[in-house]
Amino acid sequence: MNDLSKMDLVKYFDDERKTLPVTLQKEKLCALIREHETLIIVGETGSGKTTQIPQIVYENILQPDEDVVVTQPRRVAAISLAERVSFEVNTEIGELVGYRVRFIDRTNHFTKIKFMTDGMLLRTAILEKSLSAYGCIILDEAHERTVNTDILFGIVKKVQFSRKNSSNPLKVIVMSATMNADLFADYFGNAQIVYLQGRLYDIKTFHAKKDVEDYFHDTFVTIFQLHKEAPERHDFLVFLTGQEEIENMALAIEHINQDSVLRNYPVIKVRTLYASLPTNEQLKVFMPLEPNEFARKIILSTNIAETSVTLTGIKYVIDCGKVKVRCFHPETSMDALKIENISQAQAEQRAGRAGRESDGYCYRIYSKKQYDEMNKDPVPEIQRCNLGNVVLEILAMNMDPYKFDYINSPSMDAIDQAYKMLETLGATKNNILTEIGHKMTKYPLDPRYSKIILSSISYGCLEDIVNIVSILSTDSIFVSSLSEKKRKQAEDAHIKFKSSISDHIMLLKTFRAYRKIRKDSKSSWCDDNFLNVRNLEYADRARDQILDICRYLHLPIGQSCGENFDPVRKCLLSGFFENLAYITPEKKYLTVNAKKECKIHPTSTLFHSYPHCVLYTEIIETSQPYMKYITLIDKEWLVDIVPNFHQRHNYQVLVNSNE
Ligand code: ADP
Ligand code: MG
Repeated sequence: MNDLSKMDLVKYFDDERKTLPVTLQKEKLCALIREHETLIIVGETGSGKTTQIPQIVYENILQPDEDVVVTQPRRVAAISLAERVSFEVNTEIGELVGYRVRFIDRTNHFTKIKFMTDGMLLRTAILEKSLSAYGCIILDEAHERTVNTDILFGIVKKVQFSRKNSSNPLKVIVMSATMNADLFADYFGNAQIVYLQGRLYDIKTFHAKKDVEDYFHDTFVTIFQLHKEAPERHDFLVFLTGQEEIENMALAIEHINQDSVLRNYPVIKVRTLYASLPTNEQLKVFMPLEPNEFARKIILSTNIAETSVTLTGIKYVIDCGKVKVRCFHPETSMDALKIENISQAQAEQRAGRAGRESDGYCYRIYSKKQYDEMNKDPVPEIQRCNLGNVVLEILAMNMDPYKFDYINSPSMDAIDQAYKMLETLGATKNNILTEIGHKMTKYPLDPRYSKIILSSISYGCLEDIVNIVSILSTDSIFVSSLSEKKRKQAEDAHIKFKSSISDHIMLLKTFRAYRKIRKDSKSSWCDDNFLNVRNLEYADRARDQILDICRYLHLPIGQSCGENFDPVRKCLLSGFFENLAYITPEKKYLTVNAKKECKIHPTSTLFHSYPHCVLYTEIIETSQPYMKYITLIDKEWLVDIVPNFHQRHNYQVLVNSNE
């Protein structure tokens, strides 16, 4: 972009900004922020909360040596909003405006407006308890109730109290898209709430006539139908649950474009939006189509487009009614990624995306009866996730997880379980952090992953474990959404990475091969091998950062087990001994702790074999639970590696059972 066109765009967006509800009420907001220590701001998506309030705070409220930080539950949102604000103030990203998300830091010493994921601010608070650089902390998207934002509520409240009568008091702003803000206000001792006057046009909502069983299929059919009926330039926003589903839908839609029967209909421009998409790809969803193009934009998005980012020009919303969430089942102590029904509040938010600029339509791929059966509000994540990480983080800040000032408390049971897990990992002893536990808090990872990194030293495979952990921190590196013919080619290309005993080793071999390729050939090498270059690049960055932490902890870098992968498998067992499953005489797999049935995921390299005992690092729940990445385990290893083995009845059964 040359300077002139950039200036034109800045001016264009400037005009648009003038009509945003936040801008129209700027004086009033400014006065309220100045007057109140804590302010809750509620307003429809697209009011200008996230992009404008930080600028207002920076220009009017902050002292010269103070910064403002805005938290976002999602990485993609943190990045794209920082880019947007940076553009509005006409500076390069990473200067006045920047962002910090896991494994990427685009800020410098002069950055004043910082966008961060909520997890990143939490980690910052562990290192610097008083958060003294910040004059104002904005907890955005508070209605999402992610576990990290929920914990930040407690931290920020405490910090605010401790800085109360000091020379640098802390201002807190909580921003939410939904109306039930009383909970937040009560939590901060009757804080002031402002409701922004927004505008929302009329939206006609349609439900499926019958209960929907295959939402993916019905969503596709609806897109197809509406495409034939809707005028050109009436863009669609489709809510789906994740990257794979989105890529498959994009592929299916491409077929519509090639269908000669539909020659006379507008060309479909598919845009996608999900967490692991690189920034420049994400930004495409915001770009308008060419002025005279006979086309329609169809955006396929995860629930990130529900409230975190605002898309313009949407006339039709197609809502599959599902969302992918991380769940923890205390009865089975099983963590899983699960596709669940959204809540009614989320359904309303999604529908609202169609009525931003004019009247719109929302097609729900669920019946009215299915809608009536949904929860009214989403369950806060803290009440449905594994608390291992939370407990570790709270301990790292010298606080007591049982007495923490939660906005909604998790069950005591869930905290007990988290402690139990940390105790067996060696992170705590008698509920106090051990030296290993302290080291574990340095990694921005689930405690089980930091544990295997630390124990890899005694297995001589630090390099390999860091590689595996890095790969597991991104989405799948194998390209999966392919036509029948290409799928066969991909399978052939992947043979050289295969391992008959472990998906983790297959990931490791692939990553090793990728890292050996020269930088300028990596992209074409990935294409030839049906690998997702973006996810591999992300893993590479993750690897650098994890290694930095290893260096900081003086761990010996560079140890690799070469081609003998036993140490890697043993090391995985040292962190994931709770995640084992074994085969029954009926060839079913039961988890070792809860005896719950799980299947091996069809994408696993062990899918067609029937190993006796496997370790998994991920469970995906669709119609039933599937173990995603798995590794074969020799049961003879259990006695040596599983802590308190002899007190664990379940494992004894496993060792004694016949193959
Ligand atoms: P809120 O936080 O209240 O939902 P935002 O501050 O995110 O609202 O958005 C305000 C306006 O800024 C939106 O109406 C949208 O038009 C515009 N906007 C936000 N992000 C972008 C972007 N990346 N590209 C273009 N326009 C954007
Ligand atoms: Mg926002």
